[in-house]
Amino acid sequence: MAHSQIAGRIVKVSGPLVVASGMAGCRMFDVVRVGEKKLIGEIIELKGDTASIQVYEETSGVGPGEPVVSTGVPLSVELGPGLIGSIFDGIQRPLNVIEQMAGAFIARGLEAPGLDREKRWHFVPLVKAGDEVVAGDILGTVQETPLVAHRVMVPPDVESARVRDIAEGDYTVTDTVARLETSAGVREITMLQRWPVRVSRPVKEKLPPTEQLVTGQRVIDAFFPIAKGGTACVPGPFGSGKTVIQHQLAKWANADIIVFIGCGERGNEMTDVLLEFPELTDPRSGRPLMERTILVANTSNMPVAAREASIYTGITLAEYYRDMGYDVALMADSTSRWAEALREISGRLEEMPGEEGYPAYLGSRLAEFYERAGKARLLGKDERVGALSVIGAVSPPGGDLSEPVTQATLRIVKVFWGLDDRLAARKHFPAINWLTSYSLYTERLDNYFREAVGKDFPEMRDEAMSILQEEQELSEIVRLVGLDALSPRQRLILETAKSLREDFLYQSAFHDIDTYCSQRKQYGILKVILEFHHNALALLDKGEKLEKILGLKVRERIARARVTPENEWPGEFEGILAEIRKGLADEAAT
Ligand code: ADP
Repeated sequence: MAHSQIAGRIVKVSGPLVVASGMAGCRMFDVVRVGEKKLIGEIIELKGDTASIQVYEETSGVGPGEPVVSTGVPLSVELGPGLIGSIFDGIQRPLNVIEQMAGAFIARGLEAPGLDREKRWHFVPLVKAGDEVVAGDILGTVQETPLVAHRVMVPPDVESARVRDIAEGDYTVTDTVARLETSAGVREITMLQRWPVRVSRPVKEKLPPTEQLVTGQRVIDAFFPIAKGGTACVPGPFGSGKTVIQHQLAKWANADIIVFIGCGERGNEMTDVLLEFPELTDPRSGRPLMERTILVANTSNMPVAAREASIYTGITLAEYYRDMGYDVALMADSTSRWAEALREISGRLEEMPGEEGYPAYLGSRLAEFYERAGKARLLGKDERVGALSVIGAVSPPGGDLSEPVTQATLRIVKVFWGLDDRLAARKHFPAINWLTSYSLYTERLDNYFREAVGKDFPEMRDEAMSILQEEQELSEIVRLVGLDALSPRQRLILETAKSLREDFLYQSAFHDIDTYCSQRKQYGILKVILEFHHNALALLDKGEKLEKILGLKVRERIARARVTPENEWPGEFEGILAEIRKGLADEAAT
């Protein structure tokens, strides 16, 4: 483990990058304390006895000759009860604690443990003395918040052991809650474990994502679904509704735990999150959403390099809750800011730049991050399964999706929700462009859709999508030669597409009923829109006038469907269908 302290000297300071000599014996990614102020940094390059150090605190006033001391351990997080509800900076210092210690402007070199050392938690054992346990087995639980039961697990490095003693009681995170007899001797287990952030936590095996992360947002669930354990990317031009989408996902997605990483600067993007998240209510329980949420956000005086630490810290915390068997959804906003940090550090390291100055390893860094997502069979005898879904926001400058960070991300993630500021300007929300977005899970989830939503749902979705695509082509014709050039059938396509946009894809996050839409109701709305369309086509074939068909009263009922309460919905659905069939048949008879 920790070697005797290696101390070198600073030879150069270049913004967040410090170069030190005399560092022989250190390892890559070891944490070091830099200068008299003991700033916290991480070794990111080693050449002979010279180390390049990425410093997570402001380096002004630090100069050559000052000491650099290695801690001998890699950047790690503390895992245990007390994480949920916390707001951490990128190196897992709880923001409320450091603000108390130093005021809102955080003094440098401050150390604050991630987990409260004083607080007592009520631990209830699930195993007893004499039981055989293996890595990942749940030794006991702690009610961490009213919404989350924390499962205290046998650490991954304990292959197999026998429980020597374990007792119910109130413990701090550093108290021994159990003793295990291992082949290497007796191991005292506390509720606090440490894990190096750049190493993904082990699982037995990754499983194919076959279950849907249901969000209650129609355009996502029906058209561009994400699987539990899946990866998605959402670009967010300013004002396009990125914040609202993230809040809706955090509130409504059927995940147990939310981890939100803010990589933006505080003072603009990040303040929203820090102020707004703690105000959100969990709609299912009526309790504060923070009771199942962890926020990671850097403070204003941390340099860009700290964004990298936040990314790794956040995903490690998320993996830990996945390991308990939970469904975790992680959102990172925005990964472009992290990529900019990589670019800055790479520039200062004088590495060979790739596209637009980003390092050549940009793509592989992003991939390593997203690869930590997934559904997995977990360590432990109980064969539990957990999932970690990752949703990364990108902020392409000028909305240009061809820039390197967006392109590298799109090569990795399976879902793209193309937020479009033109749709937002037209007040179409969520402003997810149905023509540019995609999900590579759609087909894989089709069996799930047939069982859970409706056996003809995949065909309905495909038909709706092709109507929307045809609308795009027809609008072009209308623009060039006018509506008169279209046949009645083509004009019906335009009307149905409009109905799909306004009665299905449009969804108000601020309407009590519309804010969440069950999949049963999603199916129903889509069904009545398409049913009307099919009946109308049949009438057109019989020579009926389009105007007359479009004047049918039932269309108003279809338009109200999305704001009809869920409990009225099954009846309303049957009612609309009956009215379509009867009404249109009557038309045909006259
Ligand atoms: P961004 O974070 O991309 O700058 P916001 O998420 O703050 O944008 O959204 C900007 C505005 O758009 C919101 O204040 C809201 O009025 C509107 N909006 C966004 N999404 C929705 C939605 N799903 N339903 C209703 N209004 C929305």
